[in-house]
Amino acid sequence: MSSSSHALHEVAAHVKKMEADANRHAGDVTLIAVSKTFDAETIRPVLSAGYRVFGENRVQEAMGKWPDLRKEFDGIELHLIGPLQSNKAKEAVATFDVIHTVDRMKIAKALKSEMDKQSRDLPCFVQVNTGEEPQKAGVPPLEADAFIRQCQDEIGLNIIGLMCIPPVDEAPGEHFALLQKMAGANGLTKLSMGMSSDYPIAIGFGATHVRVGSAIFGARDYVTD
Ligand SMILES: *Cc1c(COP(=O)(O)O)cnc(C)c1O
Repeated sequence: MSSSSHALHEVAAHVKKMEADANRHAGDVTLIAVSKTFDAETIRPVLSAGYRVFGENRVQEAMGKWPDLRKEFDGIELHLIGPLQSNKAKEAVATFDVIHTVDRMKIAKALKSEMDKQSRDLPCFVQVNTGEEPQKAGVPPLEADAFIRQCQDEIGLNIIGLMCIPPVDEAPGEHFALLQKMAGANGLTKLSMGMSSDYPIAIGFGATHVRVGSAIFGARDYVTD
């Protein structure tokens, strides 16, 4: 077993335990293995071990490795978890199965238009900038309700939930709690929150999708974003 497969196995077991501890149903939480910056050679053993759900944060990078991996392995589910530019919407819709980072009307419209063209209906999350950090992507919390409704009613996107990345220097719990509350208020059931450092906490606050990279694949050589 490769070291990444082994680590994934351990994280998956921990997710199961945290689900049980939080009185969640088994299988409530999807573990997204975030493979950004790692090449196909590193990812392949994890696929061979049977795992199929992965996350990438750059469209260009994902296009470079996943089309070939999809030819080798059936049933891959690829999540876009990084910021999206509207001029990459076409590639994003062709490459990914779920989009976590809808945060502007321009993106929402570009995605919908591409989905129609490609006859693909991708489930989407709205990213909320819960810490209201100027440098971070996401809709400000106060604008989120209106934005979600616009995406659903005007654009016709299939919004299934909300996503956040808490500020690095703050306790994540209050951000997870806020996202959980906002999703509930909008009738949304899916919550994309929790990374290597805080996914057990996120599961306690109702996360349905945890995005775990370094705890599975190891430290990244370079910083993305
Ligand atoms: C890289 C990344 C992750 C995974 O981070 P780790 O700390 O390596 O688990 C999760 N979410 C997003 C949006 C990311 O860009």
